[in-house]
Amino acid sequence: MKYDVIVVGAGTAGCLAAKTAAEAGLKVCLIERKSHKEIGEKVCGDALGEHHLKTLGLKTPQHGELEKRIEGVKIYSPDVETVFTIKHEDFKGYLLNRRLFGQWLLKMALDEGAVLHESTQCLEPIVEKGCVTGVFAKNMKTNWKVRFDGKTVVDASGFLAVVRRKLPKKMGIENEISNEDVEACYREIRQLKQETKGKEYCEIYLNQKVTPGGYTWIFYKGSAKVNAGLGVCMRGKFPNPKNQFYKHILTKPLFEGSLLLSGGAWYDPTRRPLDNMVGNGVIIAGDAACLVNPIHGGGIGPSMLSGYLAGKTITEALEKGDISQKALWTYNVKYMEDYGTKQAGLDVFRLLLLTCKDEDLNYGMKYALLTEEDVLKAGLGEEFHLNINETARRVFRGLKRIRFLNKLRVTVKLMKQVKAHYRNYPKDPEEFEKWRLKTEALFREARSKLIE
Ligand SMILES: Cc1cc2nc3c(=O)[nH]c(=O)nc-3n(C[C@H](O)[C@H](O)[C@H](O)COP(=O)(O)OP(=O)(O)OC[C@H]3O[C@@H](n4cnc5c(N)ncnc54)[C@H](O)[C@@H]3O)c2cc1C
Repeated sequence: MKYDVIVVGAGTAGCLAAKTAAEAGLKVCLIERKSHKEIGEKVCGDALGEHHLKTLGLKTPQHGELEKRIEGVKIYSPDVETVFTIKHEDFKGYLLNRRLFGQWLLKMALDEGAVLHESTQCLEPIVEKGCVTGVFAKNMKTNWKVRFDGKTVVDASGFLAVVRRKLPKKMGIENEISNEDVEACYREIRQLKQETKGKEYCEIYLNQKVTPGGYTWIFYKGSAKVNAGLGVCMRGKFPNPKNQFYKHILTKPLFEGSLLLSGGAWYDPTRRPLDNMVGNGVIIAGDAACLVNPIHGGGIGPSMLSGYLAGKTITEALEKGDISQKALWTYNVKYMEDYGTKQAGLDVFRLLLLTCKDEDLNYGMKYALLTEEDVLKAGLGEEFHLNINETARRVFRGLKRIRFLNKLRVTVKLMKQVKAHYRNYPKDPEEFEKWRLKTEALFREARSKLIE
């Protein structure tokens, strides 16, 4: 049997891709290495902005998928003396029951007619005459190798990117990404001894000694449960995130007498999107295409958006009988327009944070060089200006932190340039190479000025 679309991975990206394509009447199969009932389980912070559901026209789930309402985010400086409270429609949302949420999305895809092959591990793409025409997989119960033929394939296998990593170089999709663009994370869900009151905000703690290039999060899920974890950038000799968690976080009084409900480690690709996410017969979506927010690592929303766009793009391409890279290119254009531009700008900001000293962050937040409003604007993908007035300049000169001030200024300038460049993402693959070279040059400049 030949499917119209083979979706590899039934995570948030894969389920949306399968749902969207099946809804349009296409023959869709979902290949997932987990069993049906495990789908949705994931090492994750479980936080989702409400606006992501609205944008995709999804109703609010009602059967335990949403565990707690959140009103925004609180960001703590390394010395914990300054707290930014980010309160805005786009930062309101929910803490999810991740398994139930995943099952809810899966059900939508299956209800539309997608076929699930559970406990089936995709091994590699099948590429014929420069076009992806299916995948080889292994049935994990029988160990039999199975061939799936399809007109198109969506790689939604998350960080592992099992299809993307094995595509021929000629397809022009990056196979590998740099470790420096990945956060190694460790997370636990814990039952506290007592319910904590008034915890309607997700808490984020910055501290370069504990979490170099990353942060610690404590998210309250209600019923005295918390989702807590941390991520560190995989750059140079980075510390083991689980050791850091046990040494620096679990020792806080909050966790005294708490009970471990589940724990685990995973990776988050916190960088700009892959420059190109399509080839002949193939689209890369979600974490497989590095579609998480580079600053806070949130990727559930963008992965669902990319799955939706993948399903729509394939539907339109098949209607025209053309599944070439050129025909699927609109996926790149649309994603960059909707989220990729903001993501790329924030990737520059991430480079600044990577080598920022704790003292710089303490002073920067305390003396309002960066304000809550700046962080909010950056988070919304809007332009922001630094509050570097003469007083701030004098204070920072006195503190011998002028270098940091200059780095901030460079960051804001480069963020603007990068975003302007992404707004001109090529409408045609013919113009892509020129655009890609400029992207490389911009990020080379950002790295050399901000982290080297
Ligand atoms: C510790 C941590 C905390 C995070 N916290 C948040 C948060 O609070 N909010 C937020 O929005 N985002 C968060 N993220 C990011 C978010 O989890 C991801 O961006 C999002 O889940 C990506 O969805 P996806 O569908 O692309 O990939 P995934 O959810 O990873 O789904 C991929 C699916 O593919 C399957 N698969 C993999 N390989 C194969 C194979 N060979 N064959 C078949 N199937 C395969 C997997 O089993 C899985 O079901 C966090 C990430 C981490 C690591």
